[in-house]
Amino acid sequence: MGTSTYQLRCRECGKTYANQPRSICESCFSPLEVTYDYDSLRAHVSRDAFASRAPNMWRYRELLPLPAESQPSLPVGFTPLTSAPRLGEKIGSRRLFIKNDAVCLPTLSFKDRVVAVALANARSFGFEVVACSSTGNLANSVAAQAAREGFKAWIFIPSDLEPAKILGTQVYGAEVVRINGSYDHVNRLCSQIADEHRWGFVNVNLRPYYAEGSKTVGYEIAEQLGWRLPDNVVVPMAGGSLITKIKKAFDELILLKLVDPKPVKFFGAQAAGCSPISTAIKQYSSEIEPQRPKTIARSLAIGNPADGHYALQAINKSGGWAEDITDTEVVESIQLLAESEGVFTETAGGVTVGTARKLIHQDRILPDETTVICVTGNGLKTTDVLVDKYRSSSETAIAPKLAEFEAYLASKASLSSAVTETAAVGR
Ligand SMILES: *Cc1c(COP(=O)(O)O)cnc(C)c1O
Ligand SMILES: [Zn+2]
Repeated sequence: MGTSTYQLRCRECGKTYANQPRSICESCFSPLEVTYDYDSLRAHVSRDAFASRAPNMWRYRELLPLPAESQPSLPVGFTPLTSAPRLGEKIGSRRLFIKNDAVCLPTLSFKDRVVAVALANARSFGFEVVACSSTGNLANSVAAQAAREGFKAWIFIPSDLEPAKILGTQVYGAEVVRINGSYDHVNRLCSQIADEHRWGFVNVNLRPYYAEGSKTVGYEIAEQLGWRLPDNVVVPMAGGSLITKIKKAFDELILLKLVDPKPVKFFGAQAAGCSPISTAIKQYSSEIEPQRPKTIARSLAIGNPADGHYALQAINKSGGWAEDITDTEVVESIQLLAESEGVFTETAGGVTVGTARKLIHQDRILPDETTVICVTGNGLKTTDVLVDKYRSSSETAIAPKLAEFEAYLASKASLSSAVTETAAVGR
């Protein structure tokens, strides 16, 4: 395409490739990534041009690998960046923001961004079937966007995913294949299927294009902060791609002179039950030791992260850090975010909020720095982890009589004053 200003390049040996569905270098077997002709781009992009367009991720289209003929119409992205003073007060930050992809269109997670870019490329490469291996959110997003764009979808998932994520894939008419095994088994199988069938696997043979969609989280954060970069970002890590792409987005904005240069610290968040990247960081190791995942944060349960090495590099070079929290802390953090900011996130968001709190307590993130927490998915998809917390109150029902309500209120009041008295005695 005449206007195409991007191509594939090997991250290690630098060999370049014309655009094609390929994710691994044939010379050195390292991952490929999309690169752009930044010199020619500089003349074509400006803050004003971006800001004048519709509020969705396509406003940054020059910075995405978008085939010349594609006209994406789905308004994906441009999710709210909201200040979070009440959460900030509770965890010790005076300039805290939430990037809220729990409300991303169309399927309520940041995966909608990567899928949108992958499917635009699947179309131009002539695929009729799109597919993925998924920890849940990618399944939802591929199924939904395939339906809208007229692709057939094959979705491969570990059999123990949350019911809402399975149903939220099937409803779009996708073929769902449940695999008895972990995500890492599912992903290996998908690599083999991709060699046999001419299918566009968004996170296998289309992976370089797919991954670029995550950059839009970074562009939006900068634009929503008034074309400024934050001091810190806290990002959940599964395969480790999102955190590296937010960094790429910030680096590009600096290179294109759309923001002033400024160091940003990258902080990675994982669940203790699947923490290959944070463990390597905490051990000052450059090797990522694969793990067998065991956590309720299923969307982050990748034991052998494809971009783990690059995530680790991005974090270390920035002067950031990574941490992980227990499943109990994940649930508490979901409640903390909901009760203080009115945002209901899935387990991955609990991981991020709880990890941010831990990093602040460790003085790795300071109270007066501008800190953005990336909330990447919606709580309605993982309600199973909360059911026990609210079982007793949801089982109580009263008759529609004022007297009954007054009695109920009195019993609540005596209960809470009893609690207060106990607490006072305890002190
Ligand atoms: C996939 C996913 C992530 C992490 O993405 P990677 O790019 O694989 O690190 C984070 N949050 C949610 C909700 C996800 O579904
Ligand atoms: Zn190479």
